[in-house]
Amino acid sequence: MTRRRRWALGITAGGLLLVVGAYVVTTDGLAAFGAAPSGDRRSRVVRSPRWHDGAFENAVPTVKTLPGRTWEMLRRHATGDEPREPPGPMPVMHPSRASFEARPNSGLRVTWLGHSTVLLELDGARVLFDATWGDRASPSTIVGPKRFFPPPLSLADLPAIDAVVISHDHYDHLDMGTIRELARRQGALRFVVPLGIGAHLERWGVPAGRITELEWGEQTAIATGAVTLTATPSRHFSGRRLRDAVGRGNPTLWATWVVTGATHRAFFSGDTGFFEGFAAIGEAHGPFDLTMIKVGAYGEPWPQIHVNPEEAVRAHGLLRGRVMLPIHWGTFNLAFHAWDEPAERTVAAAEASGATLVMPRPGETIEPSLVTGPVERWWRSVGK
Ligand code: ZN
Ligand code: ZN
Repeated sequence: MTRRRRWALGITAGGLLLVVGAYVVTTDGLAAFGAAPSGDRRSRVVRSPRWHDGAFENAVPTVKTLPGRTWEMLRRHATGDEPREPPGPMPVMHPSRASFEARPNSGLRVTWLGHSTVLLELDGARVLFDATWGDRASPSTIVGPKRFFPPPLSLADLPAIDAVVISHDHYDHLDMGTIRELARRQGALRFVVPLGIGAHLERWGVPAGRITELEWGEQTAIATGAVTLTATPSRHFSGRRLRDAVGRGNPTLWATWVVTGATHRAFFSGDTGFFEGFAAIGEAHGPFDLTMIKVGAYGEPWPQIHVNPEEAVRAHGLLRGRVMLPIHWGTFNLAFHAWDEPAERTVAAAEASGATLVMPRPGETIEPSLVTGPVERWWRSVGK
C-alpha cells in the first residue's frame, strides 16, 4: 500500500469515527435505543400468545415491505419530487395552561398536538397519547426526520395528566427526552404501554411502579377508577435499533387503545395497517364518540402496516365511530407522499362515505359533540 493510500484510508476511517462518535454523543450514550425486557417483564413477553420464536407477530400474516420493493423505496427516497414538507409556516395554535383548567362541558375534549400526540380529556380523566416533544423522530438529535413546527404546548404548560399511553416504540411515538421530562415534572403520572415497552421507560428513569404493561385485551383503570384503558389489537411492528429495521425485529408489542368512561368512549389507532379486526373492536368497545386514526405515512411498498386515508375512514366506520380525528400527518416527513395529501384524501373519503371529520390545526382544541358543518381546509393556505 502506498503512503498516499494509507493516508486516504486513515482520513476516511477517522471521518467515519467522528460521525459515529457525534451520533453516539448526541444520542445520550445510546440510551435512546432503550432496553430489552428482562426478569418479570421478559416472562410476560414470552408467555404472550403473540410471541413466536423470539419476536412479536401480528394476528394476521404481515410483511413490513413487499418483496422486491426495497430498491424502489431507496430510489424514491432520493428522487421523489412531491412536496413532502409544508411550503410555509404551519398555522400552529398555542393553548394556554389556563385553557385546560375548566373541564369540558360536554365531558369530551381533544387537543391535537401534531403527529400522533393527542391530549384527550374524557369523563374527568386526562390521557396523553404518544407524547413526543422531540425535535426529531430519531435516536439522534442531529440526524433523522425533523418536525415541521415546534410543539404547540410546552411540557411545562401541560395540565396534570392521569396517564401517558404509548401505542408502540417507534421514535415518532416514543421519545426518550419527552418521557424523562414528563416523569420528572409530573410525579403521580402513570405510563400505560404495550408489553415490553416498560423496559425502555425504566432505562430512562421511570420507576417500575408507575409503569403498566398490557397485552391485547387487558385493561387498567385510571383517574381513581373513572376511566378504563384497554389495549386492543393493531397491525404493525416495533423496534428502535437498526437490527430491528433490517431484521425480523418486533421485540415489543404494539397496540391500538380504547378509552372508556361513564358516558364517553374513544379509540386511538397509533400506527396500524388495515385489518378486519376493527369491526370486532367496535363491537366489543364501541360505539365511539371519537376515533383518532392515523392517515399519513402510507405507501404502496408497505400496504400492510400503515393504513392509507381511505382505509382509515373505512376503519372508522367498522369501529362504529361518530367523529374521526385524523392523526399522524402534517408533522414529520416519513413517506413518499405530499405533506398535505393525507388531509385531502381523508376529507374526500369522509365526504364519499358520510363520515364526520374534525381537522384541527396543530394545537387546536375541539369538543367533538359541538362539531357542525364541513371541515375548513386550512392546509391549503400554508405558504400562500
Ligand atoms: Zn410505527
Ligand atoms: Zn408512526
